[in-house]
Amino acid sequence: MFHPKNKKMHTHKIIHQNETGNVALCEKCEHIHLEIGTFLAVMPITQFKLIVKDFKQRNKIPFHYLCSENKPDQMVIQTTKNTFITLDENEFESTFELLDRANHHLEIFELLK
Ligand SMILES: [Zn+2]
Repeated sequence: MFHPKNKKMHTHKIIHQNETGNVALCEKCEHIHLEIGTFLAVMPITQFKLIVKDFKQRNKIPFHYLCSENKPDQMVIQTTKNTFITLDENEFESTFELLDRANHHLEIFELLK
């Protein structure tokens, strides 16, 4: 995924953060930096929106329905084309809050452009 290494020209604005991680936006190339625990991914806004959509859909379903037999307390979530994270119920709730609020802030940011 394209994101220039010359950080001097790229300023990242924290959109939302909580105890689980943070969502930041690069004001120059408009890529999202998503940090959840030790996981960090850089992605275009469109990819971020897909993750938010996925979280919203899962949030409507009881947590235990979404976990595997092998790991009944962990949910596996695809974050990019070939990365996944596992979250327990508390982490899921906290991550959902992080993404949902960041998404609201992002929508406001896009309206103001
Ligand atoms: Zn950038």
